[in-house]
Amino acid sequence: MSATLFTGIGELATCEPTLGDGSALGLVHDAAVIAEDGRVAWVGRASDAPAADERVDLGGRAVVPGFVDSHTHLVFAGERSAEFEARMAGEPYTGGGIMTTVAATRAASEGELRANASRLLAEMHRSGTTTVEIKSGYGLDVATERRILEVASELTPETTFLGAHVVPAEYAEDREAYLKLVTGEMLAACAPFARWVDVFCETGAFDEAESIRVLAAGIAAGLLPRVHGNQLGYGPGVQLAVEFDAASVDHCTYLSEEDLDALVYSDTVATLLPAAEFSTRSFYADARALIDAGITVALATDCNPGSAFVTSMPLVIALAVREYRMTPAEALVAATRGGAAALRRTDIGRLAPGCSADFAVLDAPSHVHLAYRPGAPVVAQTWHAGTVLIASGHVEE
Ligand SMILES: [Zn+2]
Repeated sequence: MSATLFTGIGELATCEPTLGDGSALGLVHDAAVIAEDGRVAWVGRASDAPAADERVDLGGRAVVPGFVDSHTHLVFAGERSAEFEARMAGEPYTGGGIMTTVAATRAASEGELRANASRLLAEMHRSGTTTVEIKSGYGLDVATERRILEVASELTPETTFLGAHVVPAEYAEDREAYLKLVTGEMLAACAPFARWVDVFCETGAFDEAESIRVLAAGIAAGLLPRVHGNQLGYGPGVQLAVEFDAASVDHCTYLSEEDLDALVYSDTVATLLPAAEFSTRSFYADARALIDAGITVALATDCNPGSAFVTSMPLVIALAVREYRMTPAEALVAATRGGAAALRRTDIGRLAPGCSADFAVLDAPSHVHLAYRPGAPVVAQTWHAGTVLIASGHVEE
């Protein structure tokens, strides 16, 4: 295989603190990267770069690792703009609209679901995302949950079974029957297409005892746990996630002192979803308390048609800097290396030798422009495994 030298990088954020200036971003100025067989083979100053077969000059732009969007609900049908409009006019978000999407998703063909998700994934590529996690949870019956995960598994290895999203309307009078389905037949049908099991542990969704059953059954089927917790109020989600050694507990909008203590002594990442808080006009999670306690934080879009119809990680970074008071460097690390940690991956989210050659080229001199220029198309090119996905807004297929 041939090696490609990417040179003319004005500022390279490796997100690997052992490289470059030794900061969390591992910054290298006037940098170069060599990619070989889809992996990063060398990183350093352009003046020190060894020879390679091919050469790409990036003209002084900034380069960051491809974003790792570790929390999305990308496979669904329909849209809920009327619900959003009503919410912006003052109606509260309760999670009840999920059943609207469930009805549309059950009625959709596999081809429609694939086309929808692929279009959203293309949007993500355009804004620099190179790894995406995708959950089920808009089927809530055996056939549709399985169909969602089959489509998701064509798009990413990071697939999550979320049959325990809410109890569907037809089981409202018999939660126990739905619990048996989710932990039995539905899990068995979905597990071959999933890496992770997730549960919406929240008032109005699944309580602590039910969440324990869902996670335990998923683990017994060979899946790894992650948890939706503490989005709409205080609750057991965070501590449950830690007890199960979940890779991540997601939302964390309402955190108690006990939740922070539990996370500090765990390998569970706190994944923050500021686009959901923005789109539901919720208050924002206390990211500073997490970061200042030394807890690993990830940022993700939560892309879904109800509470956050957002595909752009640069927007998420801008919200995190503005509303969470994260520094631009903290936000970039959380959107790359943090997302990788939330998926228990060390081969992505960094630009270090051996990692996948996944990166975004910014039409800007510095990574700070991701937060500094919200709404602007700052990402000029997206490269995945050393191959260009997006260049100057054009998809190359
Ligand atoms: Zn979610």
